[in-house]
Amino acid sequence: MQILIATSNPHKLDEIRAVIDDPAVELITLDALPQKIDEPVEDQDTFEANAMLKARYYAKASGMLCLADDSGLEVDALGGEPGIRSARYSGADSPRAERDAANSLALLSNLGDTPTEQRTARFVCAMALVDGRNSGGGGEPLAVVRGTLEGRILMIEEADDPAHPERGRGSNGFGYDPIVFVPDLNKTVAQLTADEKNAISHRGDAVRKMWVKVRGIFHAT
Ligand code: IMP
Repeated sequence: MQILIATSNPHKLDEIRAVIDDPAVELITLDALPQKIDEPVEDQDTFEANAMLKARYYAKASGMLCLADDSGLEVDALGGEPGIRSARYSGADSPRAERDAANSLALLSNLGDTPTEQRTARFVCAMALVDGRNSGGGGEPLAVVRGTLEGRILMIEEADDPAHPERGRGSNGFGYDPIVFVPDLNKTVAQLTADEKNAISHRGDAVRKMWVKVRGIFHAT
């Protein structure tokens, strides 16, 4: 069975691959398709709706079984922001690494000196699966799931280099990982190894839930 994973973010792909590690399933990426598919506009107002929009769009465009995700960070003291705007929070339209740093800096600056106990936050990942292999399905998702990872945002003075608080602590992962602290592990997400992150992450949680559903639907191994 082939599944098109609708992301071009290599970090996300690695995290998904680590869970769906089954020889009966071939994971295909957008980059591996013979045709280039333009990105859809993610204009929905929930993670789930955006994941469904992407899964429907790429399933239809490719004629494949398609798994899409939408993810982001919800910060309680900011009323759930950046939420679905996580990728573009700072407004910067630069390459991924620079944009990630600009987003983290914007978040830290908007939180200001909000005390530790009020800096609670969570990563959220919604995933949707749509079967584009026959046109009769109407694009309705076969499954939609949500995974989360609870943590809190570092204080500026907790960063390794307070002159660059957006670099937080640790150098693994991507996005907001260096400034999201997981109290249970006493580490930021960027201080976790790939295996440690997969074991607890919002994406790991979502993909494990999705995998249970996929196996139920297709009786895969
Ligand atoms: P998406 O590509 O539309 O799902 O946007 C995801 C955005 O949320 C990314 O650009 C990151 O800023 C943030 N994000 C999602 N998952 C993670 C993660 O695992 N670590 C750090 N940041 C994440």
